[in-house]
Amino acid sequence: MKFKSAEILKHYRVDAPDRFDLASVDCAETRDLDKDTAGSILADDVKRLSDLQERLYAENRWAVLIVLQGMDAAGKDSVISHVMSGVNPQGCEVHSFKAPSAEELDHTFMWRSSTRLPARGRIGIFNRSYYEDVLVVRVHPELLERQKIPRTLIGKHIWAERFEDIGAFEHHLARNGILVLKFFLHVSKEEQRRRFLDRLDEPAKRWKFSKGDVNERKRWNDYMAAYEDMIRATSSPSAPWYVVPADHKWFTRLIVAAAVIEALDSLDLSFPKIEGAALKEMREVRAALEAERPSRGRRHRHDKGSRNR
Ligand code: AMP
Ligand code: MG
Repeated sequence: MKFKSAEILKHYRVDAPDRFDLASVDCAETRDLDKDTAGSILADDVKRLSDLQERLYAENRWAVLIVLQGMDAAGKDSVISHVMSGVNPQGCEVHSFKAPSAEELDHTFMWRSSTRLPARGRIGIFNRSYYEDVLVVRVHPELLERQKIPRTLIGKHIWAERFEDIGAFEHHLARNGILVLKFFLHVSKEEQRRRFLDRLDEPAKRWKFSKGDVNERKRWNDYMAAYEDMIRATSSPSAPWYVVPADHKWFTRLIVAAAVIEALDSLDLSFPKIEGAALKEMREVRAALEAERPSRGRRHRHDKGSRNR
């Protein structure tokens, strides 16, 4: 079947945030695709992405920031390893944001993210991000207390204020050539249960298990409410959210890859053109290098010498 990515992406991009309803998203959706077909589409996409990333790097003007959010076991790591598998590691940086350190808590919630933004020509991936500060911190207000903000500045509008600040920050990035793409990998509670069981049962996955994740699971509904509110408040044309069904990892990867490709395509990236004096100079250098070519006999002697060295 033909994968009409533009049409499908539109379906997952939150273009009308006011009307966004998280409950209407089916976590198990696959749009009549099967795993094998998806695998071959993804293989093509990975090549395409590698080519686009090379252009992004060569042009050195734009940057791309990919924000990945989701409940535990939603598949964030798997998206990074599969979708980015063809991308040159020199042009891509991944940052995973954990509970903030003492030093990070001494700064504003944006500080640690702003120091890890991708440079021009690069793709930056945030595995969790400043959005944790309106998610886990909202679900656990005691974390807000640890953030050491002067008490008089914490009022009932704190979340709306943070949404506004995040919007302004992303606007600033967009205006400076950093394309922001945000993905909420939407896994169902039942699929998370299965993945947690896998983590407990399979020795190679046990390291991923954390007791804290099971506690967060108990707050599922609070998290979903926080996610919905956040998506409504922070989806914008220059930094849209994609809400991606995540019960089938192969489908998740396909949507994320397609969205990143669509965004990079829209930049119309090309290798810098060498013309005029610069091209003339290159031709002269080329001719000089050509003229240095050793004669057959001389090359032979030289080869022999280097072999003895
Ligand atoms: P993981 O991504 O599974 O390695 O887990 C990282 C943990 O760090 C998650 O439980 C997040 O909720 C937590 N975390 C990330 N950012 C923050 C934050 N700003 N405040 C509190 N906890 C956070
Ligand atoms: Mg985890």
